[in-house]
Amino acid sequence: MTTPTGRIIEDVTIPAGGHWGRVLRPGQVLRIVDLEGRQAVDFLCYNAGDPRERYSAADTMKYASTIFLTTGHGIYSDMGRRLLTIVADTCGRHDTIGGCCSAESNELRYGVKDTPSCRQNFLRAPEPFGLGKKDIVANLNWFMNVPVGPDGAMAIVDGISKAGDHVDLRAEMDVLAVISNCPQTRNPCNGFQPTPIRVIVRE
Ligand SMILES: [Zn+2]
Repeated sequence: MTTPTGRIIEDVTIPAGGHWGRVLRPGQVLRIVDLEGRQAVDFLCYNAGDPRERYSAADTMKYASTIFLTTGHGIYSDMGRRLLTIVADTCGRHDTIGGCCSAESNELRYGVKDTPSCRQNFLRAPEPFGLGKKDIVANLNWFMNVPVGPDGAMAIVDGISKAGDHVDLRAEMDVLAVISNCPQTRNPCNGFQPTPIRVIVRE
């Protein structure tokens, strides 16, 4: 992993199944490191000044003309504004369509009750910033591999990220960034074994 440049203002390891949130100032860069590889990192972001403006999966895909985001692509709000820019990506495969896991979807899909989930983390992580259930929208998944076939078939399959793979996201405005380090063990998004990630913020 290349050493990040600039003054580091936060550097934390998020345990398997953990969550994180922070307001990024314009120009600050958030690095998300998949420490051991094949770990899905569920992600949401908002205009920190007015969180009613938030990540739009559909608009982000339309502006990028692809469902597979990588270096150079913008992460856009539902007001047509760029929240973040992907300035580095050593993995090259992330998911924009699969959404997050929830206790409810795990019960429906896998017949298990009361599992830890990204939905639960998305309720906890933004809570200190005054956000709640109505603020959870379709999210982005770093390092999650969801290929789509020519017939439209899609599935969560084995991730391709290696230990140390990372994305760097530059804030283009005041952005509240929220992470759920996915606890899923019922499909291959985390190699059936959730692992820690590292988050570094620099300016
Ligand atoms: Zn999850």
